[in-house]
Amino acid sequence: MTDQASDKVSTPRSVERIITGQAVMDGAGVKINRVLTQTLQRRLDPFLMLDNFGSDQANDYIAGFPSHPHRGFETVTYMIEGRMRHKDSAGNEGLLTNGGVQWMTAGRGVIHSEMPEQEDGVMEGFQLWLNLPARDKMRAPWYRDFNGADVPAFSTAAGAKVKVIAGRSHGIDGAVQRAVTEPLYIDVDLPAGASFSQLLPEGHNAFLFTYRGTVSVDGKAVATGRMAILANTKGADGVVITADAASRFILIAGQPLNEPIAQYGPFVMNTQAELQTAVEDFRAGKLGEEAQA
Ligand code: FE
Repeated sequence: MTDQASDKVSTPRSVERIITGQAVMDGAGVKINRVLTQTLQRRLDPFLMLDNFGSDQANDYIAGFPSHPHRGFETVTYMIEGRMRHKDSAGNEGLLTNGGVQWMTAGRGVIHSEMPEQEDGVMEGFQLWLNLPARDKMRAPWYRDFNGADVPAFSTAAGAKVKVIAGRSHGIDGAVQRAVTEPLYIDVDLPAGASFSQLLPEGHNAFLFTYRGTVSVDGKAVATGRMAILANTKGADGVVITADAASRFILIAGQPLNEPIAQYGPFVMNTQAELQTAVEDFRAGKLGEEAQA
């Protein structure tokens, strides 16, 4: 039995595995904690990557992500703190600030830059890559910016403060909805000792990442900087998360595509031949040009 408005969970999922991120450099030399790496793409289908960036050292982020291409998937950037400017070949430009979300569907091709607009202070946030179904990989690009205040939010009786970036939580629709992959992306601020429940369809792959404090799922602790892959337990209808200390985490889930994944850097297609075409289109200056006209 489920109660949609309060997300009452009767059979919660357990933790399958705790993941420690990998320190990587990307862009022009930005230090990143890559939490969802390529080896987890199949297990966490339809999600391809999760990066957590966070530093108060300008040298770790100042070089940013100068002009680069994408094809075949969506990028979701969630800024906890800081200022980042986005410009792309489709003529979109936006400033991502505290609590803001940028959702970009690369589709058949976008060339964009993501550059910090600050020279000191903290820059902290996440970038998630969400795959597109084969039939949508060559669709037209799409882009939306949401200010922090425009991201739907609610509080629970237990004191959880929840922002719904995508999908639906406790009867609240998020900023973005997607057919096929049906992504859920929520940010939860949970006081010490409080619990939060979220309904999750049985077949959806799901994971959470703690970025403040420590939470527990079915008795297993998920400390700051750790990702928990939630088990696809048969018959489970959701997850219950308890804060061992005042905590903040993101919870992400989606319907797997079960299609072949072929990746070459910023291009994610279904076959090697499609990757080859993407590289050729990029070299020929064709990627993003259509949108520019
Ligand atoms: Fe990018």
